[in-house]
Amino acid sequence: MLDDPATNEEFEANCRDAEKYLQRFKGEALGHFIGGKSVKGQGSQTFENVTPIDNSALNTVSAGTAADVDTAAKAAKEAFPEWRDMPGAERRKILHKVADAIVARSREIALVESMDTGQAIRFMKAAAIRGSENYRFYADKAPEACNGLSLPAQQHINYTIRQPIGPVGVITPWNTPFMLSTWKIAPALAAGCTVVHKPAEWSPLTATLLAEITAEAGVPDGVINLVHGLGEEAGKSLTEHEDIKAIAFVGESITGSMIMAQGAPTLKRVHFELGGKNPVIVFDDADLDRALDAVSFMIYSLNGERCTSSSRLLVHRSIQDKFIERLAERVRNIRVGHPLDPGTEVGPLIHRTHFDKVTSYWDVASKDGAEIKVGGSEADVNKKGNYVLPTLFTGAKTTMRVAQEEIFGPVLTAIPFDDEDEAIAIANDVRYGLAGYVWTNDVGRAHRLGRKLDAGMIWVNSENNRHLPTPFGGMKASGIGRDGGDYSFDFYMETKNICVAMGSHNVPKIGV
Ligand code: NAD
Repeated sequence: MLDDPATNEEFEANCRDAEKYLQRFKGEALGHFIGGKSVKGQGSQTFENVTPIDNSALNTVSAGTAADVDTAAKAAKEAFPEWRDMPGAERRKILHKVADAIVARSREIALVESMDTGQAIRFMKAAAIRGSENYRFYADKAPEACNGLSLPAQQHINYTIRQPIGPVGVITPWNTPFMLSTWKIAPALAAGCTVVHKPAEWSPLTATLLAEITAEAGVPDGVINLVHGLGEEAGKSLTEHEDIKAIAFVGESITGSMIMAQGAPTLKRVHFELGGKNPVIVFDDADLDRALDAVSFMIYSLNGERCTSSSRLLVHRSIQDKFIERLAERVRNIRVGHPLDPGTEVGPLIHRTHFDKVTSYWDVASKDGAEIKVGGSEADVNKKGNYVLPTLFTGAKTTMRVAQEEIFGPVLTAIPFDDEDEAIAIANDVRYGLAGYVWTNDVGRAHRLGRKLDAGMIWVNSENNRHLPTPFGGMKASGIGRDGGDYSFDFYMETKNICVAMGSHNVPKIGV
C-alpha cells in the first residue's frame, strides 16, 4: 500500500499529527475531570498507558481511588438539580454544541484513538463522527424525554411522566471507546442525569477529550465527570457509591456479574451490554457474494474487537467448500499493519495480555480438532506490537471452545450445518445472545429465524446496520436492558404515574 505516494503522504501526515496531539499527554500523569476542570488524582498511584503498535509508553495515568470517585459523585450530585430542571429545549441546544465540537475535533479524536487502541484509522474516522451523531440524535430527543402516557380511567385521569433518575455511573471498555462512551453518555445527559464516567484503563485518552469537549461546549460544571483508574478500585467504588443511582456498563459478562453484586447493597439499577459469540448463518439460497462481504467484514473489521462481530460462521454443508475457499482467499488478503496507515484493515490488538489470550486459541483449536485454515500466528509487522494474522478455523463443532468462547479478535470459527433446525440449534447453543445474522432469500425462513434465534438483534441479509431509534442489547449472558431511541430513557429515567380524580367518586370510609 505504501508504494502509492499519495497513501504514503497520508500515512506520514497521520503520524505527524498524531504525535502533535499526543504531546499534551506526556509528562505529568493524566488526571481526572471533575466539576468542570482537570484535577490531579488524590492518591499517588499511577499506571502506564502503552500503544499496541510497539508496546511503548504513551503516557502515565492517575489511578483513581475511592476518594476521587467520591469527589466526582458529589460533584455530579450537586450539579443534578439544575441540570434536571433545565428545560429539555435548552439541553438540546447544548448537546448539539457538543456534537459540533466533536466534529470539529474529529481528526484529533480519531488519531489519538488509533494510537491508543490499535484500531485502524479508516474505521476510527467514522467512529468519531458516529460519536457526534449519537449526541445529535439524543439532543433532539431531550425535549420529549420527560413525556409519558395518558391512561384515563372512568373517574380518574392517570398520566405518566418521566424524570431523570439522578447521578449515574458509566463504565466503558476499550474497544472503540470514544464512540461507545458517547452512546452511553449522550442519552444520560439528554434525560437530565449527571454522569461519572470510568473509562477502560487500556484506552484512557479519548475519554479525557470527550469530557473536555462536553464541558467546553457548555455542559455545566459537574454534569460530566471523569475518573480514570482500574476496574477493581475506581470502577468498583463507583458501583458502590450511594449517590450514584444507576450503572450503565459495557464490558465482559463476568465483570457484569461482579458489578451486580457490588451494586446490590445500594440497590443500583443496572444496564449491561456484555459479551457475544454471534452466529452468521449462510443458507444455500442466499446471495453468496453479498454474504461473503458481510461475513468477512463483520469479524475482521475493528480488529475483531467488536461485541456484535459475527465470530461463528454457520454455513450450509452443500455450499461449505466453495464458500470457505472464497472466504479464505479474502482473509489471506486482509492488510495487517500500522493503524495510522490508511491502507491498514487490521491493526494491533489492544494489549499484550489480550494478544496472549487471542493467540492461545491457536493451540485450543488444534487440540479440539478444528483446522486452522488461514492465519493462526503472529503477523510479522514490526516484531514489537500486538499484531496477529486474521485467522479462520474450519471444520469446527459447536462443542469446541473456539465455537463457545468469546475470543474478541480477528478470528472466525466455521461450522457446517445440514438443515434449518440444526442451524438454529447450533446458533442458540452458546451462553451469549447479543446478535444474529441470517443470509437467505427465503422470506419465510428469514422470519422464522428472526423469531427463533436467541439474540437481542437479528440482521437479515445485512451486516450490522445501525438505526439509532432501534433497540440495541442482548439476551442471556450478553446483557440486561436496551439502548437506543426511547429505550435508553427507560433506564436513565423513573416513570411516575400521577392519578387525579375528576369528580366525587366514592371514597371508602373506615373508622366512621
Ligand atoms: P471488562 O469487563 O474487562 O472492562 C470493562 C470496564 O469495566 C473497564 O472500564 C474496567 O476497568 C471496568 N471494570 C473491571 N472490573 C470492574 C469491577 N469489578 N467493577 C467495576 N468496573 C470494573 O471489558 P473489556 O475487556 O474492557 O471489554 C471487552 C468486553 O466488552 C467484551 O466482552 C465485549 O464483548 C464487551 N462489549 C460489549 C458490547 C455490547 O454492546 N454488548 C460493546 C462493546 C464491548
